[in-house]
Amino acid sequence: MRRFYDEDLSEHSTRVEIKGEEFHHLKKVLRLAPGAGVLLFNGRGLELSGKVEEVGRDSASVAIAGSSRGERESPLDFVLLQALLKGDRPEFIIQKATELGIREVCFYNTSRTIPRVSADKEASRQARWRKAAIEAAKQCGRTVLPEIVYAPDIKGALKGHDRNLKLLLWEKEGATGLKEALKGARGMEGVSVLVGPEGGLSPGEAAEAISAGFVKVGLGPRILRAETAALAIMSIFQHALGDLG
Ligand code: SAH
Repeated sequence: MRRFYDEDLSEHSTRVEIKGEEFHHLKKVLRLAPGAGVLLFNGRGLELSGKVEEVGRDSASVAIAGSSRGERESPLDFVLLQALLKGDRPEFIIQKATELGIREVCFYNTSRTIPRVSADKEASRQARWRKAAIEAAKQCGRTVLPEIVYAPDIKGALKGHDRNLKLLLWEKEGATGLKEALKGARGMEGVSVLVGPEGGLSPGEAAEAISAGFVKVGLGPRILRAETAALAIMSIFQHALGDLG
């Protein structure tokens, strides 16, 4: 059944007006007509089922029929701390992180990342990131949107992301192998993983992470692109400790 996002949806909703982009999706893209069954979710765990009643010029009304008890959230509290990447690669990461059941993605700036953006660009970037998360959640059936946040530097990214397992993906010498690290991860409910930028982390940035309790972990002999490393580690942890597979 088609799913739509409505952040105002509550347990008490009986009739819901679908507007804006969601309306456009319902009417112009999917061409749903009155009578079509739909699911609505608020991004905070609530999902309700209903039927399209009326499709107007700017909005469609949906009569709520009941609550749907889809349990599609992973038990694993996984946070990805990802150095900001160029172009639309952050959106790619958000899409995959959402599908893989990740709780939060924090993009952070590094000394080897592209320059900072102005405040208004920052706002439109946040909006694009949010849109990517909503689209992915609609498609994959998640009822909770992942949190997507931005930190101006690695210190900001490390703050507030204290989970019981903290790993720094490290492509150089001195890293523990992931297989070894996973042995000590059994039973952990919270994991935060830090991935560096394309140019690698500076020694100072790596030292910040290590003094915050992050442990260097290697993913094998090949150097992966940052987004490949992120995708691999998210999949492996959802398989080992979450709900993948
Ligand atoms: N600048 C580096 C590559 C950085 S790759 C170089 O050219 O040598 C980008 C990020 O992906 C790294 O900071 C690291 O977090 C992660 N990464 C890539 N390959 C990895 C590997 N084999 N093991 C662990 N982390 C890896």
